[in-house]
Amino acid sequence: MKNPSAIAREFVERGRCDACPVIDMHGHYGPYPSIYMPRPYADGMVESMDRCGVACIVCSSHAALVDAERGNAEMAQVIGENPGRFYGYRVVNPNYPRQVAEEVAKFAEGQGFAGFKFHSDQHEYPITGDAYAPALEYAQEHRLLVLAHTWGESRYDRPAMLGEVAAKYEGATFLMGHAGYGEWDAALAVARERDNVYLELTAAYEVGGLIERMVGEVGSGKIVFGTDLPWFDPHYGIGAICFSRIADEDRQNILHRNAEGLLGPVLGTEPSG
Ligand SMILES: [Zn+2]
Repeated sequence: MKNPSAIAREFVERGRCDACPVIDMHGHYGPYPSIYMPRPYADGMVESMDRCGVACIVCSSHAALVDAERGNAEMAQVIGENPGRFYGYRVVNPNYPRQVAEEVAKFAEGQGFAGFKFHSDQHEYPITGDAYAPALEYAQEHRLLVLAHTWGESRYDRPAMLGEVAAKYEGATFLMGHAGYGEWDAALAVARERDNVYLELTAAYEVGGLIERMVGEVGSGKIVFGTDLPWFDPHYGIGAICFSRIADEDRQNILHRNAEGLLGPVLGTEPSG
């Protein structure tokens, strides 16, 4: 193998790497309408995680994207039944403003939630819209994470729109889901300009220099790993990180160190070194 990375070598030989545990910052949970997922529940997801050396995952329930109350309760149960393996994002649906307030009010009760998940494209509601304000104010006050689905050229959540929100709520930390897929220049500019915006890599594992470009222009300290599990196998994204032309220090940052730094204060978890 020409790749000089010790981390890549161990992943190739064993499928996992003890010196570089993986934290997945963008997971989901449960079945999804009109698509077959072979392992949508906790036991199957843990099987995939164990096979790929993924220590833990931060998820939002698929059901919560439609019915926040039911889905967030389901997520809370999964977190409780799988201590240390599953953490959560509480989904808010801006089309139901009263429910947003209710979900925000419940945040303090639930253990293991790192912040909120916004899916502005699916909800067809702009991320800059007022209905998100209660969640954003709460995230700002409690210094929580917001995993925001973003997509290039979207009228609801393109990178520049997330930048606008991040500028207004500097106390919250925003994970730019899918790294603003496709609109890379704008996404990288927002992550560079805003201390509280990280690039999240789900679906953005394009070969041919994208990861190198992100590391070069934004820095590996501002990039986190994600997969959309149970949609996609963790090894695909891990492979892209292992075989990008970056240093093992960058791989450590992207695959787990940044995530530990972000999750530590919110969840009281210990960094692994
Ligand atoms: Zn997702």
